[in-house]
Amino acid sequence: MTSSYRINYQLRAHKRDPLIEFIKGLLLAPFVLHAKPRKPVLNSHVVPGQLKADQNPTASSTSNTKISGSRHGHGSGSSGSNGGSDDEKNDYQEEEKPMVDANLQRYLEIMKSVEDMIEEHRRKARKGVPEHSRLHRIVPSVASFFTPLPLADAFLNANAKHSIAARRFVPPSFNDIRRILNTAQVMAIAPTISLITFDGDMTLYDDGTSFTDNSPLIPLLITLMRAGLRVAIVTAAGYPGDASKYEERLTGLLRGFQTYNLSEKLLSLFFVLGGECNYLFRCGWKKSETTGESVVGLTYIQPEAYQPADMLAWEHDDIQELLDVAEENLNRSVTAMNLQAAVLRKSRAVGIVPTTTAKIAREQLDECVLSTQQRLLEYQQMSGPSKVAIPFCVFNGGNDVFVDIGNKLIGVQVLQNYLGAAPDATIHVGDQFLSTGNDFATRSSCCTLWIVNPEETENVLKELTPLLTFPADNE
Ligand SMILES: [Mg+2]
Repeated sequence: MTSSYRINYQLRAHKRDPLIEFIKGLLLAPFVLHAKPRKPVLNSHVVPGQLKADQNPTASSTSNTKISGSRHGHGSGSSGSNGGSDDEKNDYQEEEKPMVDANLQRYLEIMKSVEDMIEEHRRKARKGVPEHSRLHRIVPSVASFFTPLPLADAFLNANAKHSIAARRFVPPSFNDIRRILNTAQVMAIAPTISLITFDGDMTLYDDGTSFTDNSPLIPLLITLMRAGLRVAIVTAAGYPGDASKYEERLTGLLRGFQTYNLSEKLLSLFFVLGGECNYLFRCGWKKSETTGESVVGLTYIQPEAYQPADMLAWEHDDIQELLDVAEENLNRSVTAMNLQAAVLRKSRAVGIVPTTTAKIAREQLDECVLSTQQRLLEYQQMSGPSKVAIPFCVFNGGNDVFVDIGNKLIGVQVLQNYLGAAPDATIHVGDQFLSTGNDFATRSSCCTLWIVNPEETENVLKELTPLLTFPADNE
């Protein structure tokens, strides 16, 4: 559905990404000024009214001219003698090609200048004054860049796939630019990457489903591990300490590890962090509780082994009080909007889930998110400085809304500290990078790839894996 309503909705601040909008605006200028639709081409000898008379089968070169679209009076074709269709086709190509080349040149100049602005922003950030950069002045909400971004090279790559410079009616879109940023990020991080984290729903599998045996992502994830990368799934799904629940969601992947007969050493590179940052599991061979056979599974890691002191200091009572406030607001939202939804309380989360098969409208879910965010911030402000403010995240999960204790920023930081990976060696892949999404927070601690479905995850991994180096002792 594309309607003016939808367009207006997308214009709301929480539905826009300011950096992508900025780049889109820059690319729109040459598109409007130069990539104009081609004029209809008529043969120079033909005057209106004579068109039909000239279109007889014997005058083949003349009629071909109309189809191939030669420029008026150009070259030998205009003489009428020996003006064969090949020449005219060449004329056509010569006319078209400079237009596409010039467009490409203009687009590349823009991408190069954004690349330079990002570099300047990085230099200012290293000096501790990112707010002094030109990019920050134009896009005040711009996040940190942990690597340079080769946007011009990435544009060439995207242009080869999506013919951006040859398009006269469809300007470079939000999705074009999102994918270009992804490609640039993949190119930049490939030489240094050591940790890659993935969101679950809509990134590795469809919403609320599980990893299937035939997922094309399985061999790609294994390739990442063979290249020595630590691979972690950082998901909102929260099952306190319950490995079997995560094993269930990841059945296909774990069975894939088993089928490929991965060594314990390789499996030790794979982690699952549930409840945003609260429950960490490692992967390895273990005895099946039901059959006694050796299977690949997950083992819970005690929080003391990896959580920093400030996280371990979160008081149970403070957590419950925050969740009480959130629950009250969610209940109010359900009543106020008459939603067919139930409130679900967990030990470190509270949310609303639909009670019927009907989907809750996105606008209603966003309303729940934004009002609950607001309520919790007010609550924390009123609590004063004496109380430790427990970090939380409120997000629209597609068909539900959840308030989780902690967030993926903490999740990624916990893994970076536990596994020893710097921000410029870490990348998070997710689908929720708008301000109502829970992947958004990771931007302050690592590089990110914004995908919209598991197929796009597959595509970015297909771009990344050929750029990796594999250790010599590879299995
Ligand atoms: Mg997701």
